[in-house]
Amino acid sequence: MAKRDYYEILGVAKTAGEDEIKQAYRKLALKYHPDKNKNNPEAEEKFKEATEAYEVLRDPKKRASYDKFGHEGVKGFENFGRGAYTDFSDIFGDFDLGDIFEGFFGSSFGGGKGRPKRGRRGADLQYDLNIDLEDAATGKEVHIEIPRSEVCETCGGTGSSSKDKPAVCPTCNGMGQVRQTQGFFSITQVCPRCRGEGKIITSPCKTCNGSGLTRKKRTITVKIPAGVESGSRLKISGEGEQAPGEGTTGDLYVVIHIKKHPRFDRHGNDILSLVDIAFPIVCLGGEIEVPTIYGNRVKMKIPPGTENGQIFRLKGNGIPYLGSYGKGDQLVKINIAVPKKLSSRQKELLKEFAKLSGDETSGKDFY
Ligand SMILES: [Zn+2]
Ligand SMILES: [Zn+2]
Repeated sequence: MAKRDYYEILGVAKTAGEDEIKQAYRKLALKYHPDKNKNNPEAEEKFKEATEAYEVLRDPKKRASYDKFGHEGVKGFENFGRGAYTDFSDIFGDFDLGDIFEGFFGSSFGGGKGRPKRGRRGADLQYDLNIDLEDAATGKEVHIEIPRSEVCETCGGTGSSSKDKPAVCPTCNGMGQVRQTQGFFSITQVCPRCRGEGKIITSPCKTCNGSGLTRKKRTITVKIPAGVESGSRLKISGEGEQAPGEGTTGDLYVVIHIKKHPRFDRHGNDILSLVDIAFPIVCLGGEIEVPTIYGNRVKMKIPPGTENGQIFRLKGNGIPYLGSYGKGDQLVKINIAVPKKLSSRQKELLKEFAKLSGDETSGKDFY
């Protein structure tokens, strides 16, 4: 379907001034407002059409481009619904139009994200969980206590004491919305008396004071998968806050924080560890036992002449790849231990060793 001319849509002349355009749009917006024309796709279309025309003609730049090039000229501007309505207050007064416009333009204008309706879903919760590096390597089941809102067991969430059912709100007749008129313009707002519930509680439940919700601590089992990283977020569906009324629960997000380990450093999926090795072993070569993050010890060969700081790789002794097969490696960095306390016999032998190597033992600079 070919697009209609914007001036024609608003019913104004091409020479119309700003005020005239605004007036014309206001008239159409009132007439075709979705709130006044429920289940009327034709009116909805007209309202959108008028809004689009107004969005272009109210803006001098867009209008000039439209005048020159027609609809082609404003193609790039057609992302309506993305903050484009922030200054609607000059048209409609200081009403909160957020709900109406959001719901109305949601998908048809600019691909709005379609937020869930207010009050229908409980809030998401976040829980910060500190775990040891060992747990990140092996995975673990952890029980955590989450305080959250749940449906009140006494009243089953109605908020009303067992005998009296909630009464229909007289202010909005159960609609949850009220129409307010200011000047010539009327608008629908959430009912202030029942806050949109459509019901009022004449005799509130004593347990929850009429809210329908109670605060409870709940123990939740969290399965930490092997290979998690610090900052990983585990989503546990439906374990967030309960929404009031007939709403659903939000989700719980468990954020993983891995504690610093005194022995092991994590680098991605590899584990770096430092081992102290006695001086004779690095000289002569030998075999040592290296502790791993998994609590066992693995044998590692030290070749003769190993240098200080040299790194050896123990394949497959690192952290598992999350959601995949295999593990990283353990990197073992050699630290040659210098003996601090020597017996006279040890000193004697070392002096002899130095002599045999041709090294001076007193005073002389090595260089
Ligand atoms: Zn009400
Ligand atoms: Zn209750």
